[in-house]
Amino acid sequence: MTKQTSQQTAFAIDDNGKGIIRVDDKTIFIDNLLPEETAEISTTYKYGKLKYATLDKRLTTSKDRVVPKCVYYDACGGCNLMHLSYAKQLEYKRQKVQNLLHKFAHVDVEVNPTIGMENPYNFRNKIQVPVRLNNEGEIITGFFKENSHDIIDIDECLIEDNRARPLLNAVKESMRIFNVLPFDEYDFSGIVRHIVIKTSLHFDEIMLVLVTTQIDFENKKGFVENILKECPQITTIIQNVNSERTNVVLGKKEILIYGPGYIKDSILNMKFLISSLSFYQTNPIQTEKLYSVALNVAKLESSNTILDAYSGIGTIGICASTKVQNVTCVEIISSAVTDSINNAKLNNIKNINFIKDDCTNFIVNNNVHFDVVFLDPPRKGSTPEFLNALKKISPKKIIYISCNPVTLSRDLTFLLDKYEISSVTPVDMFPQSSHVETVILMSRIEK
Ligand code: SAH
Repeated sequence: MTKQTSQQTAFAIDDNGKGIIRVDDKTIFIDNLLPEETAEISTTYKYGKLKYATLDKRLTTSKDRVVPKCVYYDACGGCNLMHLSYAKQLEYKRQKVQNLLHKFAHVDVEVNPTIGMENPYNFRNKIQVPVRLNNEGEIITGFFKENSHDIIDIDECLIEDNRARPLLNAVKESMRIFNVLPFDEYDFSGIVRHIVIKTSLHFDEIMLVLVTTQIDFENKKGFVENILKECPQITTIIQNVNSERTNVVLGKKEILIYGPGYIKDSILNMKFLISSLSFYQTNPIQTEKLYSVALNVAKLESSNTILDAYSGIGTIGICASTKVQNVTCVEIISSAVTDSINNAKLNNIKNINFIKDDCTNFIVNNNVHFDVVFLDPPRKGSTPEFLNALKKISPKKIIYISCNPVTLSRDLTFLLDKYEISSVTPVDMFPQSSHVETVILMSRIEK
């Protein structure tokens, strides 16, 4: 290995928030370097080939740089844009969507400004942390270091709901008092693997999920009673049992320890029950803005029939239901479908039906028509079969909500011969990170 040092200037930020430089005609991505910033970069070569590059010292400072508020920022990896001013984060996301639409969908559209937060901190309504013992025998919780099983011990996280941290500390303290050991993945011993906390924005309701390796363990009763004594604000406790050798956090078996087993929150005046296993957007303040954009661009009419594809616990469909004739929601996870049926009852919504199916299966095998289709697939996007079948159904409008602009752009290519892009609006669901959510309205081209 040989090492060289040179001065390099970043000319852009990549899709993961890293500064882009070029060395020896190679494009290299550097953490924590902003466009127009020059830095001393060490490049390491093996057999004459450039292997990797690291930032030794930043020599100039961009006017867009801010001092990250988080003391764990460099080590943690949970956030990757905290060194960029919030206004520029929003502009970065707008540009990112515009660039990816150009690159993968070959369309040039003016993307609207990203809808941001007034206070882009303390927004996360769900925290999920691994629990381990460190070398000194102390119980620690935090985040896994990139590509490793080591945990960075984190005592404060600036993006999580303020109510979560005291609870997390109380669980750790109760583990100490009652000698409940954290999981040890090397010898597969110990009890507590993960702690999950979900908070409701609009109600004083908080869920604690204790992910444990086994159902029964010594001092379980005292351990749980002590948590509740210290934190009476907890409204429900669930024990999730995960005894598998896996990186997946939640196991399939659950035991209700305290309270009703769910918490309630509301979006656009509709109430939703959230269980430990179901998907719920993690930034509740921005979820209202996201759904408002989606519903506004759709310009729904009372005669409309609509499809909510990839519907989760039915949030979009239920919020749209009061404006239209009827709604069909399709979702693959049965517990989410059960939640959505209960949510419709809770809000006294009757013009809605829920189907448990793979969306592609549903649309390909049923002869259905919808005036407006909302689709909100997971990161991997939809399928060519779904999109081609959608074109045959030929809804007047398609509103695609996406958490991944790459798969969004790919999916749009299937629709662009019959649909035109009418508006593109990014919504910042994930401040301080490079992730972006996008709402696209597509309108049927009338010949
Ligand atoms: N619209 C909801 C959920 C979006 S997350 C909301 O805003 O909260 C995407 C959802 O798609 C998840 O609930 C996931 O379970 C579901 N899903 C994933 N693959 C699917 C498929 N092939 N068919 C139907 N639903 C699917």
